[in-house]
Amino acid sequence: MRKLILALASATMLAGAANAATVYPLDRATILVGSPFDFKVEFDTVVKPEDVKVTVNGQDYEAVFGKKAEFVAEEKGAEDKVLGSALLLRGLTIAEAGAYKVEVSAGSEAKSVNWDVYATVAEPKAKNIIFLIADGLSVAHRTGARIMSKGMTEGKANGRLAMDDIPPVAFIGTSSTHSIATDSANTMSAYMTGHKSRVNALGVYADRTPASLDDPRVETIAEALRRTTQKSIGIVSTSEVEDATPAALVSHTRKRADKAEIVGMLLDVKPDVLLGGGSAYFLGKDVPGSKRKDDKDYIAEFKNAGYALAIDKTELAAAAGSNQDKLLGLFHTGNLDVTLDREFLKKGTVEKFPNQPGLVDMTKAALDKLSKNPEGFFLMVEAASIDKMSHPLDWDRALVETIEFDKAIAVAREFADKNPDTLIIVTGDHTHGVGIIGTVDDEKPGDEMRAKVGTYDDAGFPNYEDKDGDGYPDRIDVSRRLFLAANNGPDHYETFRPKLDGPFVPAVQNEAKEYVANEEYKDVPGAVFVQGNIPKDGDTGVHAVDDVVLQAIGPGSEGFRGYMEQSDVYRVLADAFALGVAKD
Ligand SMILES: [Zn+2]
Repeated sequence: MRKLILALASATMLAGAANAATVYPLDRATILVGSPFDFKVEFDTVVKPEDVKVTVNGQDYEAVFGKKAEFVAEEKGAEDKVLGSALLLRGLTIAEAGAYKVEVSAGSEAKSVNWDVYATVAEPKAKNIIFLIADGLSVAHRTGARIMSKGMTEGKANGRLAMDDIPPVAFIGTSSTHSIATDSANTMSAYMTGHKSRVNALGVYADRTPASLDDPRVETIAEALRRTTQKSIGIVSTSEVEDATPAALVSHTRKRADKAEIVGMLLDVKPDVLLGGGSAYFLGKDVPGSKRKDDKDYIAEFKNAGYALAIDKTELAAAAGSNQDKLLGLFHTGNLDVTLDREFLKKGTVEKFPNQPGLVDMTKAALDKLSKNPEGFFLMVEAASIDKMSHPLDWDRALVETIEFDKAIAVAREFADKNPDTLIIVTGDHTHGVGIIGTVDDEKPGDEMRAKVGTYDDAGFPNYEDKDGDGYPDRIDVSRRLFLAANNGPDHYETFRPKLDGPFVPAVQNEAKEYVANEEYKDVPGAVFVQGNIPKDGDTGVHAVDDVVLQAIGPGSEGFRGYMEQSDVYRVLADAFALGVAKD
């Protein structure tokens, strides 16, 4: 009996411990001096305002923060379920660097978090930063692109990629605040705000209420640049410009799918150069191709704000040379076609959008514009489709995209050679579960394609050629090709061949809404069925939790080293530009 009472008592204590308030920013947050953020406390129960106590380093919070938080008696969740009380203080800034211990209590709830508020160096180290990010960039993509583009003889690469000579300086941990696995929204947001968040979130901590636009905000790098400098801002991507990675420079939403709202957030910050796809969210709902639910015409809004508009490669070249200082380039209603389709196979949607620029054209145009500002610039360049082609396990397209990314890096490095006050960063946002196993050799005997896979000594070297010297293989369907494989994915057929008719569609939905192997590839000679190993609601391969490799060169690059949380990269960027100078 006594034992039972003790067991009950400890169970009650455990239940009591579960009633802990949540404080945003979370414990161990790092916060730039002077950078506005929202402070929020979520109590698990309904509490009385007079019972709420908040101290900062032992003092009443109002004295330290200089502002009083709004008390929300009852926050509601789905179906009006009461979640508890809350405190909210928006647009808080902390002017003095140091350790801040925030202690919160009310009723049975208590929580304490520690923040590291940091100042930067007083003098900027760099005038310009070019942040080149390839979505999903994994080590296999780098290796594959090098072998495909440069070739290999007797075990030594026949050439170097532009990225190969940039020192690898850090391993980046990409995990989110709620999960080891992550997506492009919270990963890029961590780079661009200095705060980790939850999957799908941009520029906010993910709070408990269902609304996506009310979550506690943190400042983005573009906002910090506008607040503290006269620098220009450039955003270049091969995806929709309102997709997660480019959006992370300006956005505050719990939901990356709020693309219509994100266009408004882009207009609020007005990046000097904005190039990519995604025009569907700029057009009012009655315009053919629009994906908006309202009549807002953002093309007109951007034009009114002084932007030159370019909608194809020819107009981009003309606009880059024009005197108008702001440039909007929207070259597709959705994502741009990948290089393999756009330049070589003419598949995908190239017939509909025949004159799309590539990442290299866009990077050059952006640098032309941005470099006119004597105050310098921050340019983000994203190769979006390494990820978008790795999801459907279309490795040839993903590798050719990596080669294109590398060419954009070469453009950036050429600029930095002439402008040595430029910091270049090359990284990915998260990885994919992909590795290079060996080769597939059509010349091997037999009908079974599986038997033509070469492993170990049997792999030999692929026989891609680049006779025209453009850095891309003249053809990808050579007789001995790289063999890449994913360590995860849906049920699908492995064909062991490049997909010449357009991007691979490994799985399709059946009547039970489960993804099953796409039968279209079943009869490709020698195709084998590959059993999926992720839940059946997934149609593609998923992101890996593996670290990302970050490379950097130029002034400020010494700030990167060892293992770093993705959010810590922001501090190096802030330091390079001296965005948080301590007041004396
Ligand atoms: Zn992805």
